[in-house]
Amino acid sequence: AAPLAMMVAAGRGAREGVLLKNAAAIEQAGKITTVVFDKTGTLSLALPEVCAIKAAPGSSTTELLAVASAIERLSSHPLARAIVAKATADKVSCDIAQQVRAVAGEGVEGMVRGERVLVGKRSLLSAHGIDVEPVVDDNLQSSESTSFTAKLRCHVAIGNRYLGSIEAVEQLQPGCKEAIAALKASGLRVALLSGDTQSAAEELAARVGIDDVRGGVRPEEKLAEIAARRSRGEVVAMVGDGINDAPALAAADLGIAVSTAVDVARQSADLVLFRGELGQVARAIKLARLARRIVK
Ligand code: ADP
Ligand code: MG
Repeated sequence: AAPLAMMVAAGRGAREGVLLKNAAAIEQAGKITTVVFDKTGTLSLALPEVCAIKAAPGSSTTELLAVASAIERLSSHPLARAIVAKATADKVSCDIAQQVRAVAGEGVEGMVRGERVLVGKRSLLSAHGIDVEPVVDDNLQSSESTSFTAKLRCHVAIGNRYLGSIEAVEQLQPGCKEAIAALKASGLRVALLSGDTQSAAEELAARVGIDDVRGGVRPEEKLAEIAARRSRGEVVAMVGDGINDAPALAAADLGIAVSTAVDVARQSADLVLFRGELGQVARAIKLARLARRIVK
């Protein structure tokens, strides 16, 4: 081997804000055929903004925010950050939560005022026998089909009581479209794999120019998708930020965590982007290809 080329690549990468950890990572990066992106917190910014709080009959927006923010204070999901920021801005006095734990790809659960609280997808609530109430549901569905901006949504319940839902708007990472165009220009396949709904995933994918899209995927399905691509001969880089990405990041030929990723995602990745800039992915692959050519 000619480690010099690798060192040059690593050095140049570091200057450009790309952390190519070691020769093995560079070697892998140079062979990538496919880049699979997570959506929330990866292609979109880690801090979305709460745009709607929909209280179910018998609850209030204040109760909804107080209960949800108590739990979300201990989560680092983008939606959690948005909810805590909103509660702080609205000076909602926060409840104390205990026994908080993340349910990967679903949401969070914990105890508030001696009652179990669930914050997350509809499926998280229904797994505990709580129905998302039809009236509120209709309301949400109509806003979903007419809205043009990508929205994140979670439902909130305390005890057996459904409190309502909170929505936040996601913004694209700056340079996201250009970063994807650069990857395509380098001949790479680009795909989107999201735990969010198919419609939300498609909406965002269309905006950034990705046509290979799968939404509604659980963490183990993200992993299976990476494995299936690899067994078809693709060499896969996976870019992600969340707990739900960790298995897929570990299974990919090259796992890449964005700079705002949660610890378990960073630990599962081969490299971590220094800053939020997704353009680094294409640059790292280009550098690594160059280094491999020099070595050979
Ligand atoms: P992606 O895979 O695109 O990054 P996630 O799986 O992280 O998306 O999130 C998908 C959905 O799961 C969110 O839109 C939200 O409904 C729910 N969710 C996950 N974690 C949380 C959380 N901490 N609080 C509320 N909702 C959550
Ligand atoms: Mg994510």
